[in-house]
Amino acid sequence: MKQPYIPLSQPCLGGKEWEYVKECLDSGWISSAGPFVDRFEAAVKNYVQSRYAVGVVNGTAALHAALLTIGLQAGEAVIVSNLTFVAPVNAIDYCGADPILMDADPNTWQMDADKLEQFLSQECEVKGEQCFHRKTGRRIRAVLPVHILGFASPIDRILALAKRYQLKVIEDACEGMGVRYQGKHLGTFGDIGVFSFNGNKIISTGGGGMLVTDQKEYADRAAYLTTQAKDDPVEYWHRQVGYNYRLTNVHAAIGLAQMEQLETRIVQKRRIAAYYQERLNRAAGLTTLTKLPDCEPTYWLNAVLLPESFTMEARKQIVKRLNDEGIGARSLWHTIHDLPPYQKALASPMEHSIRIYQRGICLPSSAQLTEKDLARVVDTLLHAIQSVSK
Ligand SMILES: *Cc1c(COP(=O)(O)O)cnc(C)c1O
Repeated sequence: MKQPYIPLSQPCLGGKEWEYVKECLDSGWISSAGPFVDRFEAAVKNYVQSRYAVGVVNGTAALHAALLTIGLQAGEAVIVSNLTFVAPVNAIDYCGADPILMDADPNTWQMDADKLEQFLSQECEVKGEQCFHRKTGRRIRAVLPVHILGFASPIDRILALAKRYQLKVIEDACEGMGVRYQGKHLGTFGDIGVFSFNGNKIISTGGGGMLVTDQKEYADRAAYLTTQAKDDPVEYWHRQVGYNYRLTNVHAAIGLAQMEQLETRIVQKRRIAAYYQERLNRAAGLTTLTKLPDCEPTYWLNAVLLPESFTMEARKQIVKRLNDEGIGARSLWHTIHDLPPYQKALASPMEHSIRIYQRGICLPSSAQLTEKDLARVVDTLLHAIQSVSK
């Protein structure tokens, strides 16, 4: 008998979503203003302990708005992780700016702070409070570390380097909602932090995103730019180009209900990670990323690395085998420096991000997975590894 499909990461709706959405429909507040937008923004900022929060249509729009908010100009550059979903890199491109791609740390898989330091000290200089890439003369505005898979980047080291080199810090915490580092929430370290509430994230609004910041000027500017830069709503006066990026009240209603369940989701995700770790740690030579000592991960998405002896072809076959068996496993993201739009981008030496992409496999990690589901994933994975390596 064919077994049911196990998706990679599904939303989990177990709270007051119906009740809150009904309130929107009953009251007629279904569009880009309304009490749930304010309540959802308040819930997120109170949870992560930031002063301000601005809800937007999705995480990518939030990243774009964050970069515009710090004043990123066309022709400038932003340093960003090479091992990431493409969204933050695209957001840099939307501004007419260029990414500078930074390799991943071999253990944490996050942006490599040593390579970042090397790049800044060997290839960049600060002139009059601005940082320039010496060879191209290009101004570097910011560093955009992407906290991947529900774990923290070495954000303390990145912040110290950014300070020394006069760079702003935008944290892509789209996968990091609920993750703490040194007791503090991801997204609240840099100038602006960004969250996504896409369907695959730890909490979801269907589609949605949010910027958080402690600086009023940034919060005001982000709200302004994402509301069509509306200076006078009666006379329709706009002194610059704006964007229609606001979150709707309906999405925010779902988001508020989801926020109320975030702690439960984290507990469920940790249980799933513990199961995978117990059964897969060192089995068939598999390894996974290590967390930084002061990180409290959510384990948003579990991923394992095949041993050195496996080629990328073998990894693809294993993923295909899992998919054929109804298990929604995937590779990690194709390294950005290989993607056609970014092949010419400036980049650090790349070794670890390539290796992790080539041999990494993401495993189903939805909060509602049962022990039976997890056992099926693990058994199928181990079987696939065995048959492919033979
Ligand atoms: C999901 C994700 C995004 C984009 O969020 P959307 O809401 O899908 O636009 C950005 N960065 C990372 C790292 C993500 O995982």
